[in-house]
Amino acid sequence: MSRIAHYLQEHLTGEVTDSLEVRRYFSHDASILEIMPAVVVYPSNENDVRKVVRFSWQLAERGKLLPITARGGGTDTSGAAIGSGVIMSFTAHMNRILALDPKKEFVTVEPGITFHNLQQTLYTHGLFLPPAPATSGYATIGGGLANNSIGEKTVKYGDMRRHTERLSVVLSNGEVVETGPIGKRELNKKLGLATLEGDIYRAVDTLIEDNHKLIEDEKKQLRTLYNRSGYNIFDVRKKGSFDLTPLFLGSQGSLGVITEATLQLARHNPQTELAVISLPDLAALHDILPRIIDLHPSTCEMINKAALQHVNRLNPAQLRGALNHPADAIHLIIEFDDGKEAAQKKALKGLVKLVGQAGGHWLIARNPDERDKINKLRRSIATLFWETRGGASALPVAEDVSLPLDRLTDFLHQAHRAYANSELVPAMWGHAGDGVVRMQPLLNLSQVGDRQKLFKVSDFIYKTAVTMGGSISGSVGDGRVRAPYMGHVYGPEMHKLMLDIKKIFDPHGILNRGVKTASANEVKAAMRTDYHHARHEHLPYS
Ligand SMILES: Cc1cc2nc3c(=O)[nH]c(=O)nc-3n(C[C@H](O)[C@H](O)[C@H](O)COP(=O)(O)OP(=O)(O)OC[C@H]3O[C@@H](n4cnc5c(N)ncnc54)[C@H](O)[C@@H]3O)c2cc1C
Repeated sequence: MSRIAHYLQEHLTGEVTDSLEVRRYFSHDASILEIMPAVVVYPSNENDVRKVVRFSWQLAERGKLLPITARGGGTDTSGAAIGSGVIMSFTAHMNRILALDPKKEFVTVEPGITFHNLQQTLYTHGLFLPPAPATSGYATIGGGLANNSIGEKTVKYGDMRRHTERLSVVLSNGEVVETGPIGKRELNKKLGLATLEGDIYRAVDTLIEDNHKLIEDEKKQLRTLYNRSGYNIFDVRKKGSFDLTPLFLGSQGSLGVITEATLQLARHNPQTELAVISLPDLAALHDILPRIIDLHPSTCEMINKAALQHVNRLNPAQLRGALNHPADAIHLIIEFDDGKEAAQKKALKGLVKLVGQAGGHWLIARNPDERDKINKLRRSIATLFWETRGGASALPVAEDVSLPLDRLTDFLHQAHRAYANSELVPAMWGHAGDGVVRMQPLLNLSQVGDRQKLFKVSDFIYKTAVTMGGSISGSVGDGRVRAPYMGHVYGPEMHKLMLDIKKIFDPHGILNRGVKTASANEVKAAMRTDYHHARHEHLPYS
């Protein structure tokens, strides 16, 4: 065991390992990057987390760097769940529900619980946590908070931020803070603290004061519903209250380590109306998308023809019976979950009318069997992750952009063209109702030509999204992969302000070093030569 691993194990209740096999597993997340960690730690409580972070801070004060990456399910596609120092894996022990109040509809959890496991408990109380990502079986609440995740229900219920009431966070020096909205008197107390927490409140307050106009102007320019680029300084000061929570949400573990969260839940209605609609072309989508949103669906997901063809080739049985018109250009999965059955029926009738006028087709789930088939269709996209053909894999790059809804189809047109120009299959899907598009071109990372295509397509996709008033990071943060493009989303002044925020919270640069700050050369240096998304767990027995 290395000296560091030995020292940490002596001081922690949870396990520490520097085994090569375990480190190799944690050198990957779902992104195209790889970074080998020095040590993997499975904290068993907040105190363990504090000790590791404090240790790293003390080393940094002596000029030695041991960065810390918090990790949940490792499904991050931006290269933010990997790092060279300590990987702190929360799924082994810190995965409990600490309190549940079904009447007030709140739950308090540790970060390592998966969305799936939490939902199973919540369903038994007629509740659920809406912003669950497509990866719910593996993705954790900690990862969901750190990416401020969205999911298929976001179109109606919003993102993680909307459902986050309070956080416990370990700061970069090991101090623990509680976040949540505070009034003027409480803020004054915080501003007077002689701790890192006090430093942070003072510096953030001054930064907002000094850059008020810049921040307000930027707010007006961002036309997307969801933007995960940089740090959310925009919502810290609101209607007489001050709240650091928005900064931690979407910060990808680069400002603090979340050890506990209190979340607001929603009532779950399993009796829904579910349908797939198929549209002949993107023009039809452009015409009816805003009118579908007016019907208040609880799900509005899209998948294009090329993505379906991909899935079909890989697993022909998966989509049988789920679609009557697979050759149509684009398909939307729509669900209505209103508590009143009559309201659902009315919305469904409205949907059918709209689709008929647009020359499209629809398939309504009339029985459990048909529901299962449509649900299979909505989950089929995950199949793409397993694809490898002649050394090529479906890579999560040039993905996850968000657009203003009125520019979505224009963007899809241009992205199609860019893919075709590079002889790539334009498989696309996403949260149509939120304007979030995901793509996965089939490329071989060991081939120089394919790497060049990857950079060319990414460059085009990110810049086009920004030109259209969108964001490079729609549901997952910038991570390392998109960090070089953050300057395109924000001008130089705002970009600098984002980097200043990082320095305020993490003056030694130990928390998820490189995330949101990596240069293009650093990204290239960390690229894998092969891509696979291994999903087995290396958890200690306990
Ligand atoms: C096929 C596929 C589909 C996806 N679909 C969606 C989708 O629909 N919506 C969506 O939003 N995302 C989606 N994602 C991205 C990803 O699954 C989500 O962001 C998910 O919430 C990440 O959770 P995780 O536990 O896997 O986090 P990880 O990948 O382990 O970590 C994600 C980030 O959170 C940080 N982190 C983890 N735990 C903590 C903690 N306790 N404190 C501070 N920081 C922490 C990590 O350092 C990292 O920066 C998808 C990914 C894939 C591969």
